[in-house]
Amino acid sequence: MNLLKKCKEKIVETLFPAWCLNCHKEGMALCSDCLSLIEINPWQHCPFCPKPKRVINKGKCGSHQHFALDGLFSAVSYQDPLVKKIIRAFKYQPFLKNLDQQLIQIILAHFQISENKILFHSQDNSCLIAIPISKSKLKRRGYNQSSLLAKGLSTFYQIPILENILIKTKETKSQVSLSKEERKENLAGAFSITSSEIIKNKIIFLVDDVFTTGATMEEAAKTLKRAGAKKVFGIAVAREGLN
Ligand SMILES: [Zn+2]
Ligand SMILES: [Zn+2]
Repeated sequence: MNLLKKCKEKIVETLFPAWCLNCHKEGMALCSDCLSLIEINPWQHCPFCPKPKRVINKGKCGSHQHFALDGLFSAVSYQDPLVKKIIRAFKYQPFLKNLDQQLIQIILAHFQISENKILFHSQDNSCLIAIPISKSKLKRRGYNQSSLLAKGLSTFYQIPILENILIKTKETKSQVSLSKEERKENLAGAFSITSSEIIKNKIIFLVDDVFTTGATMEEAAKTLKRAGAKKVFGIAVAREGLN
């Protein structure tokens, strides 16, 4: 980050001190008391069962083995109103970029209590990739929210992060109002790889903020597998429909 940008952020912090989004206590965008209220998911569920089904040490259920994504780690439920609030504030106005710290803590808490952490371990061929966003979104937001999360995980687990390898080449429509099938169609061919040499035989952990139908992760996983990735797992802060 350049000095000017750093100074600007410092001035903004001083002029507008953070207030907890939940209890309005001064200090942080989400205080530790409120963070501890969020229920962490201790399980791993098949990414493709509409009603999330628990899976143990195998990533996905027997009926969904043909999908490219090998499994998903989702830390919390997107149905938790506080989770929804913080993720929205992180991604949209007022763009509380530093909520990344709390969201990373949520993911780490999931890995600490998850029975399936054996799947997520540092190997020479493991790496993290953030789900890329379009150039226009990047310009509007000023950051890729998933990259911030991937960077935090990379520092904590000492797993390399691959940047600018998986890129978004197609401007897609907003997924919010689209059905499951429309999302799939909307995302087809949305990603490409800039260097398949780096991807070959890697175990890739794709990082995103919210997992809804899985269309984005599946399309990214397909692209990575085509380029020679050995395994592709997803890591999401929150999953829609998880209880
Ligand atoms: Zn609070
Ligand atoms: Zn399934």
